[in-house]
Amino acid sequence: MKVKSLKSDPGIFQRAIDLFECTQCGTCCQGEGGIYLSREEINRISQFLNLSQRQFLKKFCLQKNGKTYIHTREDGYCHFSKKGRCTIHEVKPAPCRQWPFFPPMLTDQINWETARNSCPGLTPFHTLEEYLSQKNKKGS
Ligand code: SF4
Ligand code: SF4
Repeated sequence: MKVKSLKSDPGIFQRAIDLFECTQCGTCCQGEGGIYLSREEINRISQFLNLSQRQFLKKFCLQKNGKTYIHTREDGYCHFSKKGRCTIHEVKPAPCRQWPFFPPMLTDQINWETARNSCPGLTPFHTLEEYLSQKNKKGS
């Protein structure tokens, strides 16, 4: 079921981000997939860590199908996750900045429920529309 069209309401993404409160549980920083990095993000994170791009790639990244991903540690968490916090927060890559509000999360009920069930920063018992309208009433 579609929740809302981003085209009909382009402000929904920013509203959702503004209303969200991360509990810093760290759950979203674990998983086998790794986090995809663009060239610009590789450059930015390398600089932030005072590493050359080569050093950063060797130490923290893996290549899959011609793309670069942040490596996960043996415990399944991202290399930069520490006690629920991101140690590269200032320069973290786009998927991390968007989570849990990727466009597919905002427009599909099933995706939304998946995010809601895994992320305690989201209201646990409301649909996306109810969540936003409830929070909007609170803020009005
Ligand atoms: S799962 Fe949600 S609440 Fe937990 S760290 Fe990630 S964004 Fe924050
Ligand atoms: S870069 Fe930061 S926010 Fe992204 S998965 Fe790693 S620790 Fe989590």
